[in-house]
Amino acid sequence: MLIDGKTGTWELVIGLEVHAQVTSKAKLFSGADTVFGAEPNTQVSFVDAAFPGMLPVINRFCVEQAVKTGLGLGAEINLVSIFDRKNYFYADLPAGYQISQYTRPVVGKGTLVLDMPDGQSRTVGITRLHLEQDAGKSLHDQHPTKTYVDLNRSGVALMEIVSEPDLRSPEEAGAYLKKLRAILRYLGTCDGNMEEGSMRCDANVSVRKQGSKELGTRCEIKNVNSVRFVMQAIEYEANRQVELIEEGGTVQQETRLFDSGKGVTRSMRSKEHAHDYRYFPDPDLLPLVLDEKWVAGLKAALPELPDTKRERFIKDFKLSPYDASVLVAEKEQAEYFEAVAQGRKDPKLAANWVMSELFAVLNRQNLDIARSPVKATALAGLLDLIENNTISGRIAKDVFAEMVESGKDAAAIVEQKGLKQVTDTGAIEKAVDDVIAANADKVEQIKAGKVQLIGWFVGQVMKGTGGKANPGMVNEILKKKLGI
Ligand code: ADP
Ligand code: MG
Repeated sequence: MLIDGKTGTWELVIGLEVHAQVTSKAKLFSGADTVFGAEPNTQVSFVDAAFPGMLPVINRFCVEQAVKTGLGLGAEINLVSIFDRKNYFYADLPAGYQISQYTRPVVGKGTLVLDMPDGQSRTVGITRLHLEQDAGKSLHDQHPTKTYVDLNRSGVALMEIVSEPDLRSPEEAGAYLKKLRAILRYLGTCDGNMEEGSMRCDANVSVRKQGSKELGTRCEIKNVNSVRFVMQAIEYEANRQVELIEEGGTVQQETRLFDSGKGVTRSMRSKEHAHDYRYFPDPDLLPLVLDEKWVAGLKAALPELPDTKRERFIKDFKLSPYDASVLVAEKEQAEYFEAVAQGRKDPKLAANWVMSELFAVLNRQNLDIARSPVKATALAGLLDLIENNTISGRIAKDVFAEMVESGKDAAAIVEQKGLKQVTDTGAIEKAVDDVIAANADKVEQIKAGKVQLIGWFVGQVMKGTGGKANPGMVNEILKKKLGI
């Protein structure tokens, strides 16, 4: 996106920091549970509450999840990394510091490919991924004058995934978040649920004159919790900065909050710097040293990820790049499609049915595909009936609607309702004769050269047979009888 200002054209520069909660039953340095929505302070060990003398013990599984994520992002895995203390005071941080990784993160540079709606792709740099602990939560809405603290989240493992300032529009930022979320979900390393806070995003935004190579001063918009809000916040913030600069002001590097109700960003605090946090290596923890073979084993066991699956769908199922991107965006969706398309003469038919008819029903009923009223095998059964000419595509839509309603399978519905396509030449000829006899005027017109009327004739014959005649045969017989 470019912004046309009074003094010229401006370019947006965006870098995102995503906090992704590691999918793990236990916390990063304690054995406490991590179930979402539990009663406050029921999942807190002495370590999480920072009782004196309690020592952190690294959770091997969380490290594995972070390394898998790094591998999924095609990133360098650092065989030696360090846990640091990031010191600050807040009521929901009982230790007075967060254990994080600063100078030596577990994962270094990687990449992520964006699939844009226009079919283009763009590669965005990943700067790093590090492991850190979440803080507790201050509850300000429980009492008129008091704030309560819930430590259930305290110590939960987070991966902070930092992008290079490579994004240039709210749409690219949205595509980045969606793609990152898809990769995390394919890997099973984060559930990607933004409403429940398991994925949170800080957006760094600056503007510069188009063509300029230098970066402008950025503002960081903290903790935005939906893709749509991130996009809105970036758009608002970029326009604010352009107006400010064009009116002679300068952008102050600061932390801002997005007010989703008003659609604006507001200053929260001036930017803190690394030295404010007095980072130092946590003396309670040894350096994290990974075995190269162990990492190689994780790499070999990675599941097929969206980009590879997309290429395979394009190649094996002859899908367009766009259709393939849509279908692989969710793992469950891709698996559903593949179950329907597998072994089919015309896999494109499966793609069309999943993306139009099925998605329409899921949208209307606000269901995700795992809870689809029509399972993959049932849809495959319906498509079999189209492919072997038992029913027409037209009738199939009615059958599908009935499948959604009743949960019955396609063959049973076709049988019960007598919807089998008429492929008996005699019956179709009779229907064609009836239409020709009743429409002498149109017959004359078509014979006189108005051939586009054929569509109308086909329509009449289909109507006469309750939509059950095989459309190809109707066409053929009509042309023969009309002599065109
Ligand atoms: P901090 O830890 O202070 O937030 P980082 O250097 O780690 O700072 O940068 C954080 C994020 O800000 C990264 O995603 C990076 O790409 C982005 N970023 C850095 N400079 C700019 C800039 N001038 N405009 C937009 N984004 C930027
Ligand atoms: Mg930051």
